[in-house]
Amino acid sequence: MSAKPVREGLFVTDPETGTASLLGSRCAGCSQVAFPASEFCPYCGSEHTQVMLLPQEGTIELCTVVRKSSPNYRGPTPYGLAVVRLTPDLVIIAKVDTQQVLAPGTAVRCMVQAVGEDDDGNVLLAPCFRPLHLQSEMERIRVAGS
Ligand SMILES: [Zn+2]
Repeated sequence: MSAKPVREGLFVTDPETGTASLLGSRCAGCSQVAFPASEFCPYCGSEHTQVMLLPQEGTIELCTVVRKSSPNYRGPTPYGLAVVRLTPDLVIIAKVDTQQVLAPGTAVRCMVQAVGEDDDGNVLLAPCFRPLHLQSEMERIRVAGS
């Protein structure tokens, strides 16, 4: 049994920090960045794209809380679902580790989260954004406890 991503080519992780970087693609023709990474540009149709790491940190544009998930989802509920701005030109829809609606402008960082197991017992990992203020709070608790 081991851990594996829910989908290959979606993100890379830093095991030391538990952070993740989503993989996007930049078009050599029009310079637009797309997520997820694609072999052709969804904006101009060019086939000259290059995979790139997207910024780990972004800000919430809109957020809602999902309390009852779809039947195939095996991760924890409730969870946040948000429009996250990663760059001035790129917004994505992403899962957020929150049980409360986050205000627009809230800073978040991409982490990995276990979202259940596959049929072979492998732990499935998925990207999930976490509010930065919660991370610093957890670090404070960790420091205070040690
Ligand atoms: Zn393009």
